[in-house]
Amino acid sequence: MRLIVVSNREPYRLESMRGRGGLEKTVGGLVSALEPILRKNGGVWVCWGRQSQRTPLETKITDDFIIRQVPLTSRDVSEYYYGFSNETLWPLCHMFLNRTHFNNKYWLGYRRVNRKFARAVVQTYSEGSKVLINDYHLALVPNMLRELGIKDKIFFFWHIPFPPYFMLRFLPQKRELLEGMLGADVIGFHTLHYIQNFRECVREILGAVYDEEAIYWKGRKIKLKAVPLGIDVSRWESLTSQPKTVRYATNLRRKLGVEFVGIGVDRLDYTKGLEEKFLGLDRFFEKYPSFRGKVSFIQIAAPTRTKLEDYMDIKRRTDEIVGMVEGKFGEPGWVPIYYYYKNYPDERLASLYLMADFALITPIIDGLNLVSKEYIVSKRDLNGALILSEFAGVSVQLREGSIIVNPFDPDEIAEAIYQALRMSRREKRERMEALREKVIREDIHWWLRNFLEDIPA
Ligand code: UDP
Repeated sequence: MRLIVVSNREPYRLESMRGRGGLEKTVGGLVSALEPILRKNGGVWVCWGRQSQRTPLETKITDDFIIRQVPLTSRDVSEYYYGFSNETLWPLCHMFLNRTHFNNKYWLGYRRVNRKFARAVVQTYSEGSKVLINDYHLALVPNMLRELGIKDKIFFFWHIPFPPYFMLRFLPQKRELLEGMLGADVIGFHTLHYIQNFRECVREILGAVYDEEAIYWKGRKIKLKAVPLGIDVSRWESLTSQPKTVRYATNLRRKLGVEFVGIGVDRLDYTKGLEEKFLGLDRFFEKYPSFRGKVSFIQIAAPTRTKLEDYMDIKRRTDEIVGMVEGKFGEPGWVPIYYYYKNYPDERLASLYLMADFALITPIIDGLNLVSKEYIVSKRDLNGALILSEFAGVSVQLREGSIIVNPFDPDEIAEAIYQALRMSRREKRERMEALREKVIREDIHWWLRNFLEDIPA
């Protein structure tokens, strides 16, 4: 059985590969899980690829594994990617109605690019293939493939929160969006809660019926599955056991010269609750002056969608608030918050996770949150604590073992930090053991097996 994976993002940095001959994988769970399977069994990966005109459309990775890039014009990128995907669907699904732009041009661009992806799939398709389409960028592709005559099973995974009816109803193209998704045979979400929202939307908007297992629509049965994405556990275990990772962690810890270190790793997105996190740290240093000079917090804020006004705005606001905390509490020789607006490779993140006494992950709303899983797997010595927002999808899986907070309450964040710092070694170990058990068992391979069913090993 041949697998065709469809995603907006490319599995390899094809640009950097040219002229150097090497293959550089892009970072992400999906790539780590599927790349070895496609390499072994053959298949096609259809993606945008951000290629220049000179890059060939098809890149052969092995005799039977091909990357098929979908060329996009700058108008496509602006309307489909920045526009409908990231200025309409992203804010709407994360419940930011005030940041949601409704623009028919964006929608037309989205539909046009989804059609380009669907045609690229059909061109590489042969009967007996299994098609796995990923995420909110490509919601119309499942039904387009049905219309183009594909008979095999189509799988579609929605990686961000699925909004309740009272949010989706504002979208002028809500009907087309849902019908697009319902072209799939199996639709996956991270949590049962998103499935409930999806069912409510198809009932209210399309009048479709459903039971516990599936939606029934136009004579077809569409199965729904709640399967939270897992991480590539063996990759993180191997990263954190490499001597250079450990050495970097030990040296950095020594240089920081404080008793306790906290870590946060997020894309700088308005959904990630960075302002709320810094307000929580501000409250902590205010309430517990004896910890001033003893705790430093490191925040990695990876730049993302930097061309959009909302992202420039959140950057300005986080810069300001970090400055406020620094100015208020910082002293020569002690920095309360180290803040880096940069993208770090996973080797470096592994060192940061390894040396941190606690991770503070406070999204206002997040589809899942893989960083929390990476922190848990990296804490091989079990001497750490995870403080997690109840509004991250992953809190369903990681409730037992984490310190759960409401990010809108700075006092709750301050208390959680205090609790993490005062926690006995034994309690940390017990909590970490529970968390690790879950993350290791429900890894990326578990996700694939559960979502795609009879996937070849
Ligand atoms: N990440 C990275 N470098 C960075 C910041 C983040 O490689 O500088 C990775 C991180 O290791 C994780 C992913 O980006 O695998 C973020 O996934 P998550 O589910 O936490 O959030 P998303 O960005 O998908 O909303």
